[in-house]
Amino acid sequence: MSQENLDEFKEHKEQVVAGAKAIYNMGLVQFGEGNVSVRVKKADEFFITPSQNDYARMTVDDVVHLKMDGTQISQGKPTSSEYKLHVAIYRARPKVNCVIHTHSPYASMLGLALKEIPVIFEEMVIFLGGPVRRAPYTQSGTDDLGRAALEAMGDTNTCLLTNHAVVACGRDLDKAVKAASLVEKMAMIYWGALQAGHVETVPDDKIDKFKDMFKGLFSTAPRKKAD
Ligand SMILES: [Zn+2]
Repeated sequence: MSQENLDEFKEHKEQVVAGAKAIYNMGLVQFGEGNVSVRVKKADEFFITPSQNDYARMTVDDVVHLKMDGTQISQGKPTSSEYKLHVAIYRARPKVNCVIHTHSPYASMLGLALKEIPVIFEEMVIFLGGPVRRAPYTQSGTDDLGRAALEAMGDTNTCLLTNHAVVACGRDLDKAVKAASLVEKMAMIYWGALQAGHVETVPDDKIDKFKDMFKGLFSTAPRKKAD
């Protein structure tokens, strides 16, 4: 492998580490939970956190290079067992360049309670694309998880995974990190409002301009033929 190629991949690995450290430092994952991946554009490949990831100590040498068919290109640590969830999203959404899966606690609680997060802040529409819907339980590591997640996401960039927290995606690393962290913050606020006994949602007829912002800056779903 040439030095030029090594340098090219260094940036992808550094991005995976940066995303992983970010979600770890925000408390969205602990040791061995969740995963972060970054797509290699035009190559049908991506880089992802390893199985049993030690977020506090991880370096670029821990990052795993995979083909979309699951073949591991890199030597060293084995891939996260949940890589198929990432592949499903990359295949369905060409605009996605980063996928993040967390085990964040408030979003997990809502999933267990079979709740979805309605639009309670305008920024949910801008950054996430609207409400955070919920995918029913499917076993981790299977193709079913990706299918269920994509169906729940609809045109948005995130969803809750029942018994399994959150998946978020974005046009780049920063946007995916923002989405994953915003889901948890909204989950926490929604959970608190539910305990207080009332949830005031943003009126449906006031969100159109925020939908336009989402479409311009953050949306990753392919355009529908009807559009
Ligand atoms: Zn998981």
